[in-house]
Amino acid sequence: MSDRSIYAQLRVREIIHAAGTKTRLGGTLMLPEAVDAMVQASRAFVKMEELQERAGQIIAQVTGAESGYVTSGAAAGLLQAVAACMAGTDPARIHRLPDSTGMPNQVIMQKGHRMDYDKPARTAGAEMVEIGFAGETMPWELEAALNERTAAVLHAANRPAGPLSLPQVVEIAHRHKVPVIVDAAGALPPPENLRRFIAEGADLVAFSGGKALRGPQASGVLAGNADLIRSVLLQHQDMDVREATWTYRTDLRTGILKGRPFHGIGRPLKVGKEEIVGLLVALQAYVSRDHAADARRWQKQVSSLNNGVNQIKGLKGTILQEHTGRPVPVVRVDVDSTVAGMTAVEIVTRLEEGEPAICVDDVPVLDGGFLINPFSLQDGELELILGQLEKILKRVTV
Ligand SMILES: *Cc1c(COP(=O)(O)O)cnc(C)c1O
Repeated sequence: MSDRSIYAQLRVREIIHAAGTKTRLGGTLMLPEAVDAMVQASRAFVKMEELQERAGQIIAQVTGAESGYVTSGAAAGLLQAVAACMAGTDPARIHRLPDSTGMPNQVIMQKGHRMDYDKPARTAGAEMVEIGFAGETMPWELEAALNERTAAVLHAANRPAGPLSLPQVVEIAHRHKVPVIVDAAGALPPPENLRRFIAEGADLVAFSGGKALRGPQASGVLAGNADLIRSVLLQHQDMDVREATWTYRTDLRTGILKGRPFHGIGRPLKVGKEEIVGLLVALQAYVSRDHAADARRWQKQVSSLNNGVNQIKGLKGTILQEHTGRPVPVVRVDVDSTVAGMTAVEIVTRLEEGEPAICVDDVPVLDGGFLINPFSLQDGELELILGQLEKILKRVTV
């Protein structure tokens, strides 16, 4: 029985994922050692807070941060990061969220960084404050926006230059004692980014576990300041506990905590022991991976794809870098619809409806093109993509 046959049993079509690590296409494939680790984790019990504490130490080692936490994804990590900046460890504030009345609840974001991943911040109860224009923000705009109601500045990694850089944002925000959260969900590779944003002064950084890290789809890494991670923990763990026997009861006695909170805003974002273990194994494997070998493989794949594409009538291939700013080469295919006899939209649709079904990156589809990304391609799939394209269009006969 093939390892993919479960989808056949469920009568759900399998696809070739030629669009990178997109969540809507299943992210990417997990590392086999991470899958094995999840199976092993499913066979025994641990106290979840002890597992998360150990995860925090490992994340700290890998990222250079003080502490860390495993989340159910980068988006979940952003929600929990914003909630931590608003509520801290005050049980009354933790209980009130997502009603953020009476606490700092403004999250500043540069317009050039704004996208629909501000929903996690708003779900936590924050109000977005936008500064700057699409291509430019002035330092004084950030200065002017910071006030006693500011909870955090949310900074998107991998944005084009123009808006304020992370070091600039950190310098200004920290002068006003406001933490900076970085959305680094799609910022790997390069692997250096695991440490870079922390080194540049970010207080909390969220990475996706299900993209380049090749951990479980529903996992993420939150790395950063120990006090903020403490708040994340308090707002995330199952709080069906008794004060007299609670793991953190000493903090109640010493007054570090005013009281035991109820279930927090993070409680619906459950992370299983299997996800935590799978993520940790994937994270450690990513650190010791041969990234140069990955780059060479992608380069070889895109150059064969590009050559193949350029032999098909009506198509023109060009090798570019991924539009998200990651150093992953992709093939941009431009369609000359008068020669091809069909538009890029039709080709993308036929690829998806074909056998095998192929999903390419359709970001530039209305400009008459699409992208083929090698990140999630398995052996032999490159040939299948070229074969399908040739079948859909006619091969140039010279
Ligand atoms: C993918 C992505 C997210 C969400 O990450 P998940 O791990 O899927 O929750 C957030 N922000 C950006 C920029 C992303 O690319």
